[in-house]
Amino acid sequence: FERTFIAIKPDGVNRGLVGEIICRFERKGFKLVGIKILHPTKAQAEEHYADLSTKPFFAGLCNYFSSGAVVAMVWEGKGVVKTGRTLIGATNPAESTPGTIRGDLCIEVGRNIIHGSDSTDSAKAEITLWFKDSEVA
Ligand code: ATP
Ligand code: MG
Repeated sequence: FERTFIAIKPDGVNRGLVGEIICRFERKGFKLVGIKILHPTKAQAEEHYADLSTKPFFAGLCNYFSSGAVVAMVWEGKGVVKTGRTLIGATNPAESTPGTIRGDLCIEVGRNIIHGSDSTDSAKAEITLWFKDSEVA
């Protein structure tokens, strides 16, 4: 089965949106196979978002991602990488379709409450970065 890495970012946790987000993935039919809450270090954030290291917003992004508690999850199911991204919606909440997580629940690109892997390769790398084998069912 395909797996993806999903993280509820500090603003999503602080705003009490963990249950809402888990509910949407469960209702769609995906299976939760890994979950934990942690406070990422700056170094972990920089490794997680390494592909974006040349972007002007990189430092702000890593500061934000390591600013509080994050709920890290592994979800499993047919097409979960791509369909997970569809459930999440466009990066900029100003452009996310209503009905998506970002379209319904946030307004700022720098505070867009959730991360989802963008390919099956990045999903594998991110699951390895955030989870030990023994932490995934
Ligand atoms: P994520 O990787 O967090 O799931 P994404 O894949 O939709 O988001 P990326 O291009 O990977 O988008 O960007 C990572 C994060 O960087 C975005 O979620 C957003 O918070 C931030 N970001 C992206 N573009 C901008 C921008 N133009 N200005 C400020 N922040 C941005
Ligand atoms: Mg991304």
